Amino acid sequence: MTTVVDHLAELTAFRDRDALDATLVGALKDLLQPLAVAIYRRVGEPGGERWLTRARLGPGDLTPHADPLFADLESLPALDAHPQRAACLLEQRTLVGEPAPEGAQAGTVLACFPLGGEGDSAGVLELVAARPLGEEQRRLVASILRIYRNFQGLLDYSERDTLTGLLNRKTFDESFLRVALGAQPDAAAVPVEQRRPGVSGAPWLGVVDIDHFKRVNDTHGHLIGDEVLLLLSRLMRSSFRHHDRLYRFGGEEFVVLMRCGSADDAAAAFERLRHNVESYAFPRVGRITVSIGFTQVRAGDTPTAAFERADQAVYHVKQNGRNQVADHAALVARGALADAARESDVELF
Ligand code: GH3
Ligand code: MG
Ligand code: MG
Repeated sequence: MTTVVDHLAELTAFRDRDALDATLVGALKDLLQPLAVAIYRRVGEPGGERWLTRARLGPGDLTPHADPLFADLESLPALDAHPQRAACLLEQRTLVGEPAPEGAQAGTVLACFPLGGEGDSAGVLELVAARPLGEEQRRLVASILRIYRNFQGLLDYSERDTLTGLLNRKTFDESFLRVALGAQPDAAAVPVEQRRPGVSGAPWLGVVDIDHFKRVNDTHGHLIGDEVLLLLSRLMRSSFRHHDRLYRFGGEEFVVLMRCGSADDAAAAFERLRHNVESYAFPRVGRITVSIGFTQVRAGDTPTAAFERADQAVYHVKQNGRNQVADHAALVARGALADAARESDVELF
């Protein structure tokens, strides 16, 4: 009993999803001694959905391995490549004692539990064992998963904006370095042959501000204004990739952190959002546009410095007709903006 309580204490010790998932698989490996235990999440758009390994402990593994934070969608297995897992997720049904799928050790059985969550946060817990789980073991897993889900709900509540479900400003500073630098706490634990190619490229930060949003509120009221914010957040989700981080910074200002190979790629991604917003018929309000500024995150950047460069580019767009995407570095290069960082260097000497 003490062991179970110790594991539960450990499960709720970190306010970090990577640690939460790693701790859950560690606890179940210890308590049930299965051959393998893993958490998989569904990522990608409907029709092209894939499995992302969040944490997996196989036979002989001492630490769980996970797909990289910036895993390329195409490198991940398709949803229907694992039909039992897919049935568990789509029908939210617990499977126990199913014959393990092809590739697994002969005679092993598989158990699969839905983890709850919606959209990209939907996932499953999968156990491969030599024998089917007994009634007691099944109940133990179900109880631990209830605590896991409750704790995840608490994390959502503290990290996400309640209107749009995007990440809130508070989490931006905390996750900036990890996301911007692509650091992966468990990367060293992934055997080289199991590492999948991640998205290469530098980190980029974009600021998105709705044009003339005051008018929307003044003409249609705050509630309709809020609906526009919600619909815009959906357009953002569908315009960017699964691992791009989307934040609502408050009001009608949004931030995107992503990785891209070049300034042209970053510009194309932000241009896709600008175009999707411009082409969308918002119910009651009609057409809305956004102004977007973006910047490459430099070595040694603070979250504030990177944000301010992108925000300066937004300001420039606001002064020059709105409904455009501007790269801070390109504006500096053509003399339309001064580079604050270089200016302060000059002041030093
Ligand atoms: P600009 O094109 O220059 O950005 O014009 P704007 O009207 O969008 O100007 P600004 O960004 O300064 O105004 C933001 C407005 O957004 C002010 C406020 O009425 C509205 N707003 C801020 N937060 C919320 C919110 O949570 N809900 C709603 N409905 N409106 C908000
Ligand atoms: Mg604004
Ligand atoms: Mg605005």
